[in-house]
Amino acid sequence: MKKELEILIKLQAVDLELYRAERFHREYPEKVKKLDKRIEDEKGRVKQAQERLESLQKDKRQKEKDLEADMDRVKKSEEKLTAVKTNKEYQAALKEIEALKKMSSEKEDAILLVMEEIDTIQAELKHREKELQIKLKEYEEAKNRLEEEDKKYGAVGEEKHVLREELARELELSLHRQYQKIKEKRNGLAVVMVKDGTCSGCSMHIPPQVINEVLTNEHIITCPSCNRILYVKKAGNTIDNHQSKADTIGTQGV
Ligand SMILES: [Zn+2]
Repeated sequence: MKKELEILIKLQAVDLELYRAERFHREYPEKVKKLDKRIEDEKGRVKQAQERLESLQKDKRQKEKDLEADMDRVKKSEEKLTAVKTNKEYQAALKEIEALKKMSSEKEDAILLVMEEIDTIQAELKHREKELQIKLKEYEEAKNRLEEEDKKYGAVGEEKHVLREELARELELSLHRQYQKIKEKRNGLAVVMVKDGTCSGCSMHIPPQVINEVLTNEHIITCPSCNRILYVKKAGNTIDNHQSKADTIGTQGV
């Protein structure tokens, strides 16, 4: 294979790796932000349940206090009952006691309802807190993983930049320019393989005579449709096939 073409294929592979590393680094803060948001939402739900529980407990205490006051009033009214002189007064006092007892009974019912609600929310809170513990652990792990990956990509980026410079130096300036130009126009992908008679950059059919020209390896041949530099992978060719990686940037558009 023509030396230039070999270099171009390598250069393309390096550029794709660089592209992936840069993209990861670019998207990294947003990914961390997403993780943060998810865990904050989870914490918010726990806090909401806690606040609801506190408010219910406060409500219950108030109702109990009211009930106690009612009971006191019943007790006092019953004491007064022994001191009444007339039947009319006696009837009136009885009526008052009855009314107070009815009110107390309603308050007791209300307290029971609040207690039921407290039980429900306590169970929910317990579940949510447990869930939060699990999610916190997952969050830390995911965040560490992202951080490690970012570091790894950073190291790959540095290494590949050096390699890229070396490869670029081996190319003729005009060819390097041509490669860069195609890459800019064609979404980062300038060197593509001919596969099953089609260009793997734009999926268009490549005429057999063009494929023959590619095979003779005497010149740099470009795709008649998308203008990308073509190569044909031969058996025993040790150069990495980077076409699958190319899919990651999207090679649509001819
Ligand atoms: Zn093409």
